[in-house]
Amino acid sequence: MRCLFFCYNTFIHNKPMNLKEKKALLKKLETAYNTCFDCGKEFGVYSVGCSSVYEAKCDVCGETKPITETRDFAYFITGIRKLKLEIQNEKSNSQTQKQKGKEQVN
Ligand SMILES: [Zn+2]
Repeated sequence: MRCLFFCYNTFIHNKPMNLKEKKALLKKLETAYNTCFDCGKEFGVYSVGCSSVYEAKCDVCGETKPITETRDFAYFITGIRKLKLEIQNEKSNSQTQKQKGKEQVN
């Protein structure tokens, strides 16, 4: 199994994502209705035996590809959970750093 952290970085941005970018991606995953199979596999789990596939714009990467509904990838539940955790960790990290800074000043 590939590492999701690595995939996020290379798949969409080719560089580490900052908090703002992660939040934007999270929103995209949460609101997307259609997804191509590349994005679906990247952020979700294929959960049905067959999908209704047609050519249209992917809500995640924006490319016109054969797409299906995000429902078929369990609504990106795995990718969304992982992203939320990353965002939470980053927030608590920056908070402890700020607190440390204050202690040093005092
Ligand atoms: Zn896509």
